[in-house]
Amino acid sequence: MDRNETIKHHLSDALLMNYSAGTLPEAFDLAVAAHVSLCDSCRARMMAFDTVGGAVLESTEEAEVSEDSLAATLRLIETAPAEKPLPVRRGGVLPTPIQRYVGGDVDAVSWRRLGGGVYDSVIPVQGEAKVRLLRIPGGAAVPDHGHEGGELTLVLKGAYRDEIDRFGPGDVEFADDDLNHTPVAETGEDCICLAATEAPLKFRKLLPRIAQRVMRI
Ligand SMILES: [Zn+2]
Repeated sequence: MDRNETIKHHLSDALLMNYSAGTLPEAFDLAVAAHVSLCDSCRARMMAFDTVGGAVLESTEEAEVSEDSLAATLRLIETAPAEKPLPVRRGGVLPTPIQRYVGGDVDAVSWRRLGGGVYDSVIPVQGEAKVRLLRIPGGAAVPDHGHEGGELTLVLKGAYRDEIDRFGPGDVEFADDDLNHTPVAETGEDCICLAATEAPLKFRKLLPRIAQRVMRI
């Protein structure tokens, strides 16, 4: 199945722009990278923002670097160990960016029981924003995982519904703390999601500011 055709809910321009500018907390970086790896249309939009960033760099006044920096960089490239290729798993659940963190597909995830048949697994990242995998049995409500700030959820398997819509594999939902939603996993298979949550009050203010700077508005 081509997952692309089933994706209905996409990343906002603000998230893609901040991803492209490299200003997202690592937790959100991972969620955005995972969606982009599944979604042609968001990948195309992201590349457009990369182009804008490149144009800004091109028009930036050059700064001097030390004389031996080119030789030193080339030496680093020559001596760096080759990156270990990730085993390709066809029909896997986790997109490649998440597999890099987990060290494999869902069978490599160490789940922690939360009660009510719900499991989670926190993925270690830098910064105050957090990211975790959630596994919710069909028919069960997604547990409250902190709504003090913004939250970006990416569905990897199964589906859930809330007051907004139905979210299936590849779909993303960005909820800020004003949205009081109650996601419930669709009956049938387990719903597996990646959920990134911001540190309270900080990240939400960051988004519009960076977007303004990049767009020069
Ligand atoms: Zn998309």
